[in-house]
Amino acid sequence: MVTISLDPGAGTLYWYFTEIEAGSTDGEGECDGTLLLDADGQVIGVGLELDESITRADLALALQHPQVRYDRKSVTLTVALIDEEPAEVQPLHEPAVLDFDAQGRLQGCELLVAREFGLAERLARLETFVVSLDEDEGPGARGQGPEIAEKPELLTPDSRPLPPGYRSGFVALVGKPNVGKSTLLNALLGQKIAIVSPKPQTTRVPLRGILNRPDAQIIFVDTPGIHDPRTKLGSFMVEQARRSIPDADVVCFVVDISAPPNRVEQRIAALARRARAARILVLNKVDQRTRAGQEHLDAYRALGPWDMEVAVSALRAQGLETLVDEIVKRLPPGAPLYPQDQVTDQSEREHTAELVREQVLRYTEQEVPHGVAVEVEEWEEKELAIYIRMTIYVEKESQKGILIGAGGAMLKQIGSGARRGIEAALGRQIYLDLWVKARPNWRDDPSSLHWLGYRSDS
Ligand code: GDP
Ligand code: MG
Repeated sequence: MVTISLDPGAGTLYWYFTEIEAGSTDGEGECDGTLLLDADGQVIGVGLELDESITRADLALALQHPQVRYDRKSVTLTVALIDEEPAEVQPLHEPAVLDFDAQGRLQGCELLVAREFGLAERLARLETFVVSLDEDEGPGARGQGPEIAEKPELLTPDSRPLPPGYRSGFVALVGKPNVGKSTLLNALLGQKIAIVSPKPQTTRVPLRGILNRPDAQIIFVDTPGIHDPRTKLGSFMVEQARRSIPDADVVCFVVDISAPPNRVEQRIAALARRARAARILVLNKVDQRTRAGQEHLDAYRALGPWDMEVAVSALRAQGLETLVDEIVKRLPPGAPLYPQDQVTDQSEREHTAELVREQVLRYTEQEVPHGVAVEVEEWEEKELAIYIRMTIYVEKESQKGILIGAGGAMLKQIGSGARRGIEAALGRQIYLDLWVKARPNWRDDPSSLHWLGYRSDS
């Protein structure tokens, strides 16, 4: 049977063609969707405007239900749970999110419906299909709860008492690539933990940056930019961002005020709106404010509602105190979640490899875009210096040639740039031994993703 769940708080309606266990979803897509309504405005079905890339085999789970039809000509999947002609077809403002299993089969979809629509009152005819959501598992189950506030006294991990009113929690920094999330994270923490580049998608794995104040601990999660899942690495990144939002107590939607919102940002904002967390609109790059600033601001506001907006310049460290204050106000009361002297959950080695990747991005142009991974092969503490051997993996032999350069000139440049950064980070002299290897299609190879330390279960 087709089943439906409603999350009334988020205004989300889930349609399942199969039983979905947590973690069984392997990929996502999106498409335009419509709700089929009867003459009284009651929902009787849904239409999904798919695209040609989805084959009949991909629809096997959906088409096992007699109520589901696929029209090849219009490339539309119709789920008509009540067998009658709809009186009205209501297009949805947000794209429907499609869930696929490991075999690429459509498992179900997620529809976000505007609050004014009054979805809960319009599901009467579909009652038999509606199953309730598992409440404890839902996003936002953590925090906010009065049960935490009622605890008599909060203690640090080493059992010292904390000041009354101490707060702690997770803050997701989300936004399209290149708006300055990593720069903001580094500026907030007062030290470099995330690599920054003028090219999009620099950040691959979410990175936690921990900000300790006497009254609060904020754990920032710098999410990779949400973008099209063209390769497995791509869909992994979408997954990560999608996951960081439900776990967050505060979502900071970071935008570049000097440019108008684009489609990617509409998607991210839609994800943020679905979250139960507090939502802050962070207007970055105010140092670059253009004439069109007001127009952009209105456009970003319209992607809300936002609980708060703060203008900052991550580059010039302006507006950061206000931002931190506004975040702390919105965190739940609670003890620190990390030792109070810890700044990041990234290891020294991971950070070192990232610093090499940063230089690769800096010195290479489009020929070596983002198919680059760096791995530490050897790390040996010697008396005078640390010996570090790393391999830069690229996807093609031709890229290998570019990275090495004529007479090794490019690799030398990358190496000396990286060495300076690493020595500054470690506070020690290093001997850096860099190698370049081609590993074709590593981005599409799940075993190599695992091997490079990209885990999707973290
Ligand atoms: P991310 O992809 O969102 O993490 O963006 P990055 O932090 O890597 O920054 C992308 C680019 O924007 C870099 O060239 C930064 O120097 C630049 N940038 C970040 N913040 C600001 C800012 O406040 N003002 C200006 N003018 N540039 C910024
Ligand atoms: Mg980044």
